[in-house]
Amino acid sequence: MFVLSAGTFATIAYATHSWGGYHWGRTANPFNLKLGDNVSTAWDGHLATASGDWSVSSVLDTTIIPGQAKLNCRPSNGRVEVCNKTYGNNGWLGMAQIWINSSSHITKGAVKVNDTYFNTLTYNTPAWRNLVMCQEVGHTLGLDHQDEIFDNPNLGTCMDYTNDPSTNQHPNQHDYDQLVTIYTHLDSTTTLGSIVLPKGNGADVNLDNPSAWGKSLRKDSRGNDSLFGRDLGGGDKLFTFIIWAK
Ligand SMILES: [Zn+2]
Ligand SMILES: [Zn+2]
Repeated sequence: MFVLSAGTFATIAYATHSWGGYHWGRTANPFNLKLGDNVSTAWDGHLATASGDWSVSSVLDTTIIPGQAKLNCRPSNGRVEVCNKTYGNNGWLGMAQIWINSSSHITKGAVKVNDTYFNTLTYNTPAWRNLVMCQEVGHTLGLDHQDEIFDNPNLGTCMDYTNDPSTNQHPNQHDYDQLVTIYTHLDSTTTLGSIVLPKGNGADVNLDNPSAWGKSLRKDSRGNDSLFGRDLGGGDKLFTFIIWAK
C-alpha cells in the first residue's frame, strides 16, 4: 500500500480503492442514492445499466429520477446529477465530482460525460459509454480506480483504466466488497437528504473548467492529472476525478 499526502488534504490510501474513505452519511443500510437524469436519449440506456449494476451492491441502491441539475450540472445536496454535453476538445471523456463536508461525508455529486468525444468513431460505442458512465457513478459512491495504467490487462471492472473497454463495462466483485467495507458502519446523521448547508462554496464558479478544480493530487499512467482537490473553506472540499481521452 502506498499513501500520498498532499498539502491540506487528508491522506489518501489507494490500496483499498475507496476514494479517500469518503462516503455518504446514512443511518441505515441499504441506502438509496438518487441519480438525477439530465442526459439525452443516447445515454439513457447506459445510465440505466450503471444504476442497475451498482444497485447489485448489498449496501446501497441507486434510483434514477428526473434531473434537477443547475447551471453547469451543479447538484443540490443529497443527490447526484448526471449530465452530458459537447464540452469541447478539452481532453476529458468523463468527470465525477463529489463535495465533502467536515465529517468526511459526501453531500452531493455530479457526473459529466463529454459528447465531443462520444460523437467520434473511437468512443461512440456501447462499451466505452458503459465504462465511463459506470466509473463516474462509481466515484460518486466513494470508489476509486482499481488501476490507472491503461496498458495493463483488464481487471474486469469499469473502475479500471484501459485502452479496450470490452471487458471493463461493469463493476466486479472487488468493487462490491469495497462498498461493503466503506459502508458497514452507520452514521448518526444522513447526507442523503436535501438539507441546506451554508453558502460560500464558490457557488457560481463553473466547475467544468480545470481552473476551478484546485490542485492536482495524482497523475495517470500517461502523465495526465487524474484527481484534483479544492478546499472550499469551512471544512468543505471538492474532489474531481477525470478520465482522459487518448
Ligand atoms: Zn460515516
Ligand atoms: Zn475515474
